[in-house]
Amino acid sequence: MHTRGRTIWADQLDPGERPRLDPGVPESLARRPDVLVVGGGMLGVATAVACRDAGIGSVLLIEAGRLGSGASGGAAGLLVPESHQGSDPPALVELGRAGLARWRDLDAVVAGGVGFRDVDWIGLAPRPDGFVADPPPSAEWLDAAQVGQLLPGLRPAVAAVRIQHQGRVNPLRALSRLSALIPQVATGCSAIAVGASGGRVRTVSTSAGTITPGAVVFATGSPPRLDGLDLRLPASLVKGHLVVTEPVPVTLPGIVAPLATQIEDHRLLAGGTLDTDDPTVGVRADVTARIQGELAAALPPLGRVRVTHRWCCWRPRHPDGLAVIDQVPGLSNAWVTSGHYRTGILLAPAAGAALASWITTRRRPGYLQSWGMARSSMTTVTPGGTASEGRV
Ligand SMILES: Cc1cc2nc3c(=O)[nH]c(=O)nc-3n(C[C@H](O)[C@H](O)[C@H](O)COP(=O)(O)OP(=O)(O)OC[C@H]3O[C@@H](n4cnc5c(N)ncnc54)[C@H](O)[C@@H]3O)c2cc1C
Repeated sequence: MHTRGRTIWADQLDPGERPRLDPGVPESLARRPDVLVVGGGMLGVATAVACRDAGIGSVLLIEAGRLGSGASGGAAGLLVPESHQGSDPPALVELGRAGLARWRDLDAVVAGGVGFRDVDWIGLAPRPDGFVADPPPSAEWLDAAQVGQLLPGLRPAVAAVRIQHQGRVNPLRALSRLSALIPQVATGCSAIAVGASGGRVRTVSTSAGTITPGAVVFATGSPPRLDGLDLRLPASLVKGHLVVTEPVPVTLPGIVAPLATQIEDHRLLAGGTLDTDDPTVGVRADVTARIQGELAAALPPLGRVRVTHRWCCWRPRHPDGLAVIDQVPGLSNAWVTSGHYRTGILLAPAAGAALASWITTRRRPGYLQSWGMARSSMTTVTPGGTASEGRV
């Protein structure tokens, strides 16, 4: 499902970054790449980059629309592994920490960076069941008076927890910058069917003809549904809305969850709703008005703040809320990474590196044990999943 509405991320791109999101199909499309990555969201792009970094010579990424046209281009772009401590499985927190570390590395090694911003995260009124019971080592507790100094006028006055040195990105900028590292990218190119024999994928039929890959990674957001690929993973989509305000006269100390994040030009990014019972496919004015109303009520010094950007997108989700990062059963040269739900931007560089290592060494990295598709929870549906201290 494509992101709908107007994102701030697209408006922030510079003229050099925009065309890289939609290069089309190259005339000399690699028909026999060592690795074919299907899907040009953050998982696909990060995996393709990691494959290249692992020394795989020929990597082709194909994307049905433009890079980032799914959830990745509409995400809030927050990289806050520590907020998941106590409420999500330790495996997610661990991979999230590795993801944040890799985002920093990528920002340092990619020419011009990937637009990574180091920011502090303030979680207002942390829940006693999760975070407070099992805080990460870097948690710093703030009483209501200290919070009042950081956020003058905040209503109601509450205690908070601060974690320094988390991150955020403009996901479209990051996709654009990272895509420059991938040997070949084709957009407007859909995978349609898979031809497999002898326990291997032999061919992938696409809208631009047949590809004969050495290995293939399906990074299609929701699990791939392709003729010839017998992969029936349970999954759903969870819609979410975000808004961005005009520049405001209030300074937030970074990401203030679940209220808002200060982004470029002194604007505020707010929302990340979990619209579990909303079957509609467009931006809903009542939902964005509610986000705006909650923001104004919590921060009266904002006054009558105007919203300039409203959009929605859909989180791909497996029943237990945890992604799948695994080899396709019965196919020795095919992998899938799907259902990254609320943390795909954070996890992508670490998940991609893990897949690249698995492809090159033929051995599953030990820390991927929890991310397999055979886990029993894949058959237990828990609507909405767990809630972390953040909202995205
Ligand atoms: C409102 C909201 C806020 C969020 N905020 C955050 C956040 O702050 N931090 C965070 O870490 N995560 C966040 N997320 C979650 C994050 O957006 C997702 O987990 C992540 O984008 C999933 O990435 P992906 O690459 O797996 O999927 P996608 O971005 O959906 O990419 C999959 C791509 O595959 C392509 N595709 C599908 N089928 C085919 C085919 N057959 N052939 C070719 N291409 C195909 C699609 O067109 C799509 O572009 C948020 C999500 C939402 C909805």
